Amino acid sequence: MQNAVTSQPLIDPFGRAITYLRVSVTDRCDFRCVYCMAEEMTFLPKKELLTLEELDRLCSAFIRQGVRKLRLTGGEPLVRRGIMGLIESLSRHLDSGALDELTLTTNGSQLARYAEQLHACGVRRVNVSLDTLDADKFLEITRWGRFDRVMTGLEAAKRAGLQVKVNAVALKGVNDDELSDMIAWCGREGHDMTIIEVMPMGDIGGETRVDQYLPLSLVRARLAQDWTLTELDYSSGGPARYVRVEETGRKLGFITPLTHNFCESCNRVRITCTGQLYMCLGQDDDADLRAPLRASEADDLLDAAIAEAIGRKPKGHDFIIDRRHRQPAVARHMSVTGG
Ligand code: SAM
Repeated sequence: MQNAVTSQPLIDPFGRAITYLRVSVTDRCDFRCVYCMAEEMTFLPKKELLTLEELDRLCSAFIRQGVRKLRLTGGEPLVRRGIMGLIESLSRHLDSGALDELTLTTNGSQLARYAEQLHACGVRRVNVSLDTLDADKFLEITRWGRFDRVMTGLEAAKRAGLQVKVNAVALKGVNDDELSDMIAWCGREGHDMTIIEVMPMGDIGGETRVDQYLPLSLVRARLAQDWTLTELDYSSGGPARYVRVEETGRKLGFITPLTHNFCESCNRVRITCTGQLYMCLGQDDDADLRAPLRASEADDLLDAAIAEAIGRKPKGHDFIIDRRHRQPAVARHMSVTGG
């Protein structure tokens, strides 16, 4: 049962309004990207996961309290069984005007199947993670991914009228020589692109972050030799700084959690598929929303738990990658809180 009246907006102790919620709907993924997961991952038992109905109730509670943008992520959101039912149900908040945007971050493997339905549910933009255009390298990075399926998915997204932003993680010695070609390709395809620094999250087996880490200050300086990059004021509500690539006319974003801390304008919180609320991607502090959600059919306990948690949203994170800091800054993988 939902409260009829709109509650107070969520403002954290630093005066930041929380208007953006990212929800990981599953910890499972059909890829095993080397910087994200170990190849052998133990996933959560099903009973730990919030049901689709509980996810809906949780998202709706945040929307009632001022969240205007909702992003579903994972794991891979489109591998969760019944996911389209959740998206369809959440689209009522777009219809009512309570939500400005319903979107998702996906690896693209299921887009061929779902692109049209997503558009029909009011989704207009999707972020598709793609680190290379080389099919062999794609297999090396994702371990289990199929490049041709992602390409077919991207075409389906375009046909369905979904705007695509390609997210590429910059990986030293892996795709750094290719980023310029990817910018050209995104230009031809009509996609914006964002380049992301690798973040120290979760144990990933044999690989070390120091070997993968490539500061974007270097990447940007190199790209500026190939492209005319004009600084933009534009903000997508996220941490990316954008430039326009004059030769293609497309936007290019840089997400630099390590070389440039982006916390001062943080407007977001994240929920895991078990209902843990993380007030900061790079800190361990969390709040359990599953217990209040399950304790009562009314939302009073849930709303109180949300308010209490926002009241202790930290100022920022302290990601560091260098040879003295080899341990992950946080133990959980990106697939737990979603990228
Ligand atoms: N499966 C979906 C996808 O591939 O986009 C959503 C989840 S995935 C965890 C979200 C994003 O996080 C992807 O763009 C992925 O490349 C990125 N990511 C995962 N681990 C990361 C890390 N350690 N540092 C930076 N980005 C990471």
